[in-house]
Amino acid sequence: MKTPRENAVPIKTPRDLDAMREAARRLKLLMRDLIAFVQPGVTAKEIDLLAAKLCRDLELKSGAYGYGHGSNRFPGYICVSINEVIVHGIPGPQKLQEGDIVTLDVAASHKGFFADTAITIAVGQIRPELAQLLDVCKRALYEGIAQARSGNRLSDVSHAIQEYTEAHDMNVVRAFVGHGIGRSMHEPPSVPHYGPPGRGPFLRPGMVICIEPQITLGSPDVKFLPDGWTAVTVDGSLSAHFEHTVAVTSGEPEILTEFEAWN
Ligand code: MG
Repeated sequence: MKTPRENAVPIKTPRDLDAMREAARRLKLLMRDLIAFVQPGVTAKEIDLLAAKLCRDLELKSGAYGYGHGSNRFPGYICVSINEVIVHGIPGPQKLQEGDIVTLDVAASHKGFFADTAITIAVGQIRPELAQLLDVCKRALYEGIAQARSGNRLSDVSHAIQEYTEAHDMNVVRAFVGHGIGRSMHEPPSVPHYGPPGRGPFLRPGMVICIEPQITLGSPDVKFLPDGWTAVTVDGSLSAHFEHTVAVTSGEPEILTEFEAWN
């Protein structure tokens, strides 16, 4: 059982926040180049090799590489999750095809502080229902971010995401949650993307959380492939995933990982 202290949500100092902004600034440069690289015919592994090079160039340390316990460590620098893969896709030889959707989920640290972001992008032209999936998932994330305000409670974020998603006849994955972030990639609190409002810790300036809804067109239930990492929808339905690193302030939420690709 965790003590209350272990459950406490860390509060960042102004210096910590500056360090996190710098990590996020570099992560955004990396994401720009990765997104520009995605097109039909490119393999997930090629995207990962570019990510590895960009990490070196930008002095970023991948959070994904070697993540895990024991012998089954994550082998990629980033997660590349194609179509029905919800999260934790291992970058491999699969070629992207026109009409696919692909999620690039990248967490990295610079000088000991992490930033974390994910974006699902269209490979060439995609079907209208997939374009709508991406749109609803991104908007659901922003509905959650709008609740990340001092004085609100954590589950106000969660609830806003679920409400928006289900109002658009889509489903929120329960098996994975967002998280606090700072000197570690994952810190308290856990940030579910569903549930009733008015629960959990009060949000305070200096808290930094990753909000990262995964939204499906069909079942939100998850199964894992034999590699132990790749999480797919049980029914093969397609899935989107958008994530921002968000600082709670005394005013508007500060989105550390937002740049023009999000507009
Ligand atoms: Mg995350």
